[in-house]
Amino acid sequence: MAFLELKGLQKDFGPLRVVKDFNLDIEQGEFVSFLGPSGCGKTTVLRMVAGFEEPSAGSISVGGKEVTRLKTSQRDMGMVFQAYALFPNMTVAQNIGFGLKVRGASSSEISARVTEMLKLIQLDQLADRYPYQMSGGQQQRVALARALAPQPKVLLLDEPLSALDAKVRVSLRDEIRAIQKRLGITTIFVTHDQEEALSISDRVIVMYQGKAEQVGTPFEIYNRPATKFVANFVGTLNTLEGTVTDPSAGTVRVGTGEVVLKGKLNGSKAGDPVSLALRPEAISLGRQPGRDAMLGGEIAEVSFLGSVIRVRVGLGQESVSLDTFNSPASPPPAVGDKAEISFSPEDVLVLH
Ligand code: ATP
Repeated sequence: MAFLELKGLQKDFGPLRVVKDFNLDIEQGEFVSFLGPSGCGKTTVLRMVAGFEEPSAGSISVGGKEVTRLKTSQRDMGMVFQAYALFPNMTVAQNIGFGLKVRGASSSEISARVTEMLKLIQLDQLADRYPYQMSGGQQQRVALARALAPQPKVLLLDEPLSALDAKVRVSLRDEIRAIQKRLGITTIFVTHDQEEALSISDRVIVMYQGKAEQVGTPFEIYNRPATKFVANFVGTLNTLEGTVTDPSAGTVRVGTGEVVLKGKLNGSKAGDPVSLALRPEAISLGRQPGRDAMLGGEIAEVSFLGSVIRVRVGLGQESVSLDTFNSPASPPPAVGDKAEISFSPEDVLVLH
């Protein structure tokens, strides 16, 4: 039995069903992210887990105990929100100790735990500051400490980094992951930022229109997207529209060339349209060992990005982008040059 079980969760707001048959098992100590575009229902699922929103159907269990109808305060969950939701009239120490005070902990207990939490977030020196005297990143670390202080069973993070600037985002996300691992706390992290989700999660749940489109490790989600939506939403992708020529041989015509795919195209017949996808890093300019599939075309665009040069190669109606490393010894190709691209048939995703 999983530690946190979400079964058949559904949420209707009036006639609008914003979460549909959402099922997920999360293991103890696991860090999972809900990743998806704005409005796909990520926050609504999180709010149902926290007890801020009542599910229209389905159940939520933690450690084998159903909590679906329990109040937020009875669920043992810590939450960090997008906006800095610290109490403005309380010091850092008072903010962190708040949850314990509400539960009737003694002042010595609170003080010991606050000291421990301040060490954990490396803000020991700022115990007496007020929120307005701190940066956004510091405030979010305090919000994290406040959520963790009562030792919740589950930590829920709703876009906790989105109000911060890029550099702080990266360092705080690494810090959150390190703290989560150290404490071994089961965590759900909501984000619409794919890099964020891929970089810190044990598993990612890609959501679309109220449903889980795919659940998998970052490696699986990126390399083996199960649907067109996931393939496009996660990472940069080249899509090529082709026509099936021989389904049993797995051959597809793309532009003026033909590609032999790794598997058969079961369920397709000759002449059917098919969408293929390739990540930029799976394509090389020219022939490369191990990349047996070749297509010929013409250089359509060259962008010098510094250490990397992004090249777009036109293949008739279609085109693909690939990245090559800059080498001062060899100048980049020029627009209009004839070019061949190579890739491994195994790296081609057939999108459904
Ligand atoms: P974002 O990244 O923008 O926060 P999200 O994926 O978290 O998006 P939700 O906040 O879960 O999305 O919202 C999902 C859908 O439910 C949206 O269409 C939203 O407008 C709608 N919704 C959310 N809360 C309510 C509410 N209280 N009443 C009516 N509709 C709501």
